[in-house]
Amino acid sequence: MFSKGPMRSYVKDGKPGYVFSVDLIDADGGEIRATAFNELAETLNQTFQVDQTYYISKGHLKVANKRFNSLNSEFEITLGKETQVSVCDDGEVIRVQYNFVPIEDIANMPKDAVIDVIGIAVEMTPVTDRTMGDRNVKRRTFKLMDSSAVRIETTMWDERADNPGWAENETPIIAIKGAKVTEFNGKSLTLNKGSRIEMNPATEAAQQIVNWYNSQGGEIVSRDLSVERGKGASFTPASYKESTFLDMINGFSDNVTNDFEVKGWISSISDKNTTYASCNQCKKKMQEGMCPAGHSGQPVHRYLVQLSACDVTASAWMGGFDEVGRVMYGISGDEWVNTEIEDPNRKQVIMANATCRPYRFLIKASKETYKDEEKIRYRINRIENIDYIKESMSLIDKLEPHIESKGLF
Ligand SMILES: [Zn+2]
Repeated sequence: MFSKGPMRSYVKDGKPGYVFSVDLIDADGGEIRATAFNELAETLNQTFQVDQTYYISKGHLKVANKRFNSLNSEFEITLGKETQVSVCDDGEVIRVQYNFVPIEDIANMPKDAVIDVIGIAVEMTPVTDRTMGDRNVKRRTFKLMDSSAVRIETTMWDERADNPGWAENETPIIAIKGAKVTEFNGKSLTLNKGSRIEMNPATEAAQQIVNWYNSQGGEIVSRDLSVERGKGASFTPASYKESTFLDMINGFSDNVTNDFEVKGWISSISDKNTTYASCNQCKKKMQEGMCPAGHSGQPVHRYLVQLSACDVTASAWMGGFDEVGRVMYGISGDEWVNTEIEDPNRKQVIMANATCRPYRFLIKASKETYKDEEKIRYRINRIENIDYIKESMSLIDKLEPHIESKGLF
């Protein structure tokens, strides 16, 4: 068994049920998916372990739905009451077979294609946490690069984002079976529960990339298939409403998610308390030079941003954290603190450069009581530079129906 899917619940004819799938491979490289339902799904979810070999007898075959299944079999197995599963301990070690696609070629692949890919993992981001609908989602990305020096952003979710198996400063070779192509930020890859990651596989393909990487001596001129967030294409989680500043200010109401997408200009930035010292492990604010959780080591400076921004309709004071400062200033909080000490004039220039420029903001508004007075606070969850190409395209989309109906084209 080379991959194990999540337990999913569903409702059919008013009755709730559970379903769960695993992907199997045999010594000849044949691949097939096996699915179990309800109590059997619960039992097998406990029994089945990734990388273990099993004997499975008496399953039912059905034709595979290729939309959800990229394995090389035309069939799937449904496991039922009569199915028997036992562990095979004396079997040979079965290696996963890959059909690697060069990263360069992903540019021409359709959305939702499921592929195998190998490369060196670079620039892994820290894990981020956010609420989407009623679910808490963890997300982390890295860039996968092969010897064509083309890189693609690859996203991991939830448990995998929490515990990818390597650290942010490491650059392992990663082989992925079953990565899905998305059109998020240009072309990107996303890893779902059925995707399998192998780190530093002992294969020729991996060795070739290592040799290439080492021979470049850190002088790689790479090309990205994915446009970096904050530098180009943008992504809006579903709960955000596109608004003007005035609509955002008037649009606050209790008992709903007050998430707004606004475009505007920064008119002024507070230069008091622009950063705070935080623990380099748990990110908590240092108290009297110590991490409240007791970690040791050099503190990291993170941004605390307070700014005023506006569009033609209204303006608002808004606050943001580290990611916001990084996008506005293009340097880390530590670099910012050094600049503050060593070259205060340069700091003023950096701040002036960030003002009077347009940005796209994702804002969360919340109600707060301060000195018996209710106030709405605006927190910047994300800030991005405006992507003019994308803005123009969406404007054309909005205009097109009107132009056509008036016979202008
Ligand atoms: Zn700590």
